Amino acid sequence: MSAIYENAVDSLRIGMKFFLEERSYSNHKHAILTLFHAIELFLKERLAQANPLLIYKNIDVKIADDSQTVGVREALARLENLGLGVPADEKKIIEDIQRIRNRIEHHRYDHSEKEDNATIAASLKFIMYFVEFALERKLDGHIEASILREINNRVFEYNERSALAEHRLHEWLHSRWPDWNAEQEDTPKEFEGTLPCPECRQDWLVIGWHEKPFCFHCNTTVDASVCEECCATFVIDNGCGCGKYPGKDDGRIQALLDQMRGQAIREREARDKRE
Ligand SMILES: [Zn+2]
Ligand SMILES: [Zn+2]
Repeated sequence: MSAIYENAVDSLRIGMKFFLEERSYSNHKHAILTLFHAIELFLKERLAQANPLLIYKNIDVKIADDSQTVGVREALARLENLGLGVPADEKKIIEDIQRIRNRIEHHRYDHSEKEDNATIAASLKFIMYFVEFALERKLDGHIEASILREINNRVFEYNERSALAEHRLHEWLHSRWPDWNAEQEDTPKEFEGTLPCPECRQDWLVIGWHEKPFCFHCNTTVDASVCEECCATFVIDNGCGCGKYPGKDDGRIQALLDQMRGQAIREREARDKRE
């Protein structure tokens, strides 16, 4: 077992331990970050199999032990250039997880059971795919059987839920556009496709055809909207990330700041009067 692979498997195990131990803010957050780290290392392991130098960012200078290595984005590009690219569906999974991971790392983590479960299941699905088909390895024996069983269950449920969402969407498309021929077109001409649902982070949200936006994965209506500035879908109460649509909380914080500012001005005036 190479040092990178061993490191990756360890992150996978620790990430799962965080996830299975407790459904808390901190455990879920660290599970997502650690599983992302595992993905990064598994990708590097594939690069290293091709050539150990390929994990380094700059290979035109002398490589030392502490030389900077590539991130997920670069690793994916290098694999593609080597003719070892991952399929589009799997690549999209990583890009979605990377967005969530970046948000946690640089901005904020919104603890949501639904979203966390989906992110973790998607990460595990990618890892299982990549280890078996790209690295041509099996995790049995490298990871405890009880944890491996949990991983397999999550991936299985994730696939089942996606299949169910797809089935629901197709049923609806057929009832809405009875003339649509699924064999000739992927979706009816008039239908512009699904959007990422801000609740479950899966791409099964439909806006504009029901009374309220509907997610075929959540199987419920979602109080969502699309921001024309950053193009993200967001839950109306939470607002969107770019700040064009402040959520409810932001309003409260603003009111509190205004109140504090007013108080500071009054205090200053009182002090000026005394002097
Ligand atoms: Zn949803
Ligand atoms: Zn926005």
